[in-house]
Amino acid sequence: MREGKGDHERWTCPCGKHKTALVQDTENSPGVVGQIIKDMACLPKGWLQ
Ligand SMILES: [Zn+2]
Repeated sequence: MREGKGDHERWTCPCGKHKTALVQDTENSPGVVGQIIKDMACLPKGWLQ
């Protein structure tokens, strides 16, 4: 579900209703991960790990 170019990566969840973007240069800090999980609300907790 990855697409996009440059320093931002955009993810769209399988349902298509949720989107998030992350900066590739940034390590996945807890805050970033939390935001992604929040954005991708339909995905089960822990999917990112
Ligand atoms: Zn979704």
